[in-house]
Amino acid sequence: MNNTKTALVTGANKGIGFAIAQGLGAMGFTVAVGARDDVRRKEAVERLRAADIDAFGVALDVTSDDSVAAAAEAIERTAGRLDVLVNNAGIGGRTDGGAQDPTTLDLDVVRTVLETNVLGVVRVTNAMLPLLRRASSPRIVNMSSNMGSLTLQTGPVLTAYAPSKSMLNSVTVQYARRLADTAVIVNAACPGYVATDFTGFGGSRTPEQGAAIAVRLATLPDDGPRGGFFDDAGVVPW
Ligand code: NDP
Repeated sequence: MNNTKTALVTGANKGIGFAIAQGLGAMGFTVAVGARDDVRRKEAVERLRAADIDAFGVALDVTSDDSVAAAAEAIERTAGRLDVLVNNAGIGGRTDGGAQDPTTLDLDVVRTVLETNVLGVVRVTNAMLPLLRRASSPRIVNMSSNMGSLTLQTGPVLTAYAPSKSMLNSVTVQYARRLADTAVIVNAACPGYVATDFTGFGGSRTPEQGAAIAVRLATLPDDGPRGGFFDDAGVVPW
């Protein structure tokens, strides 16, 4: 086992996830680039290596038990432990035909979005926890959204996506409580409104700006906050 810290970022082939990989890599982490598509994953690893970042690809579809189990085995073989897990992969879900209007809600869209945005996080986290527990200062960051804030009630009405992030916030708190007497620090992050495929590149922030809070929470000191929800400006209300 070497002294270089390893970080797994899910959905790291593009957007905010790629920028998180870049940010952690620039800080000296070896980055495990979690991505489901072989070509997109290889291209991302090559782009990171071209920027002098120590990166390796990990095939990872967060909706598949087999894929997630194989990813954990690959990281164990390559790195022996995991210092940081950023659960970034997420989807918005279809919106056509009133699919995310609460009054005409397509329940299949809800199931699909929850499978990735919530169950995917649980699946990946539980597969990686044995590797995280081997690290001295393990950190987990769940990429949430202020659209999941019941207090702010912000953004468009999206009745699959927004509640998926509310549930992710709740799940984050459950993990933080369960892991309170361990070294594993778990928090949720909001990246702001970021120009990526996800927003049709309509967001006002760059992926690097969106990545900053995740990088910060991934590198918290041992006395850092636990079970919170943060953006660049500080605490986001639940
Ligand atoms: P993008 O659509 O640009 O990227 C999403 C990433 O998640 C892609 O790498 C995608 O892979 C991956 N992904 C989706 N489903 C799976 C899966 N089943 N298994 C593995 N990877 C998967 O989105 P953003 O970068 O904008 O979003 C990243 C996170 O930030 C999401 O959780 C999103 O909810 C959150 N967020 C984004 C905001 C924004 O303004 N952009 C605002 C608030 C939160 P592939 O390329 O294969 O599809």
